[in-house]
Amino acid sequence: MDNNPVDQVTYTEVMKKTRRRRKYFFATVLAYIPAILITHSISPTNIAMGTVFGIWLVVLIFTTFLVTLSKCPRCGNYFHMNGLTLLILRKCLHCQLHISADKIP
Ligand SMILES: [Zn+2]
Repeated sequence: MDNNPVDQVTYTEVMKKTRRRRKYFFATVLAYIPAILITHSISPTNIAMGTVFGIWLVVLIFTTFLVTLSKCPRCGNYFHMNGLTLLILRKCLHCQLHISADKIP
């Protein structure tokens, strides 16, 4: 835990990592319906559906942790977390840093 400002290279890397983690998270959320539909068309049994749901849930929990534990490079706090509130917005919940702030010249 250090709340010191970081240099420009680290800053850009952290922002890229945060954006990548958000992509994984949203991709996981969106993958649920197709995964269930495909499984249902291949094998509409409770065991198959339950297995796919279980795998999806584990992946979702993992990606949620990755997103939750992303730090803001400007203020050093969790980017999407304020207290116990998890909000996956495009701005840091503490210092309002935009998720694409490093792309804007
Ligand atoms: Zn911040």
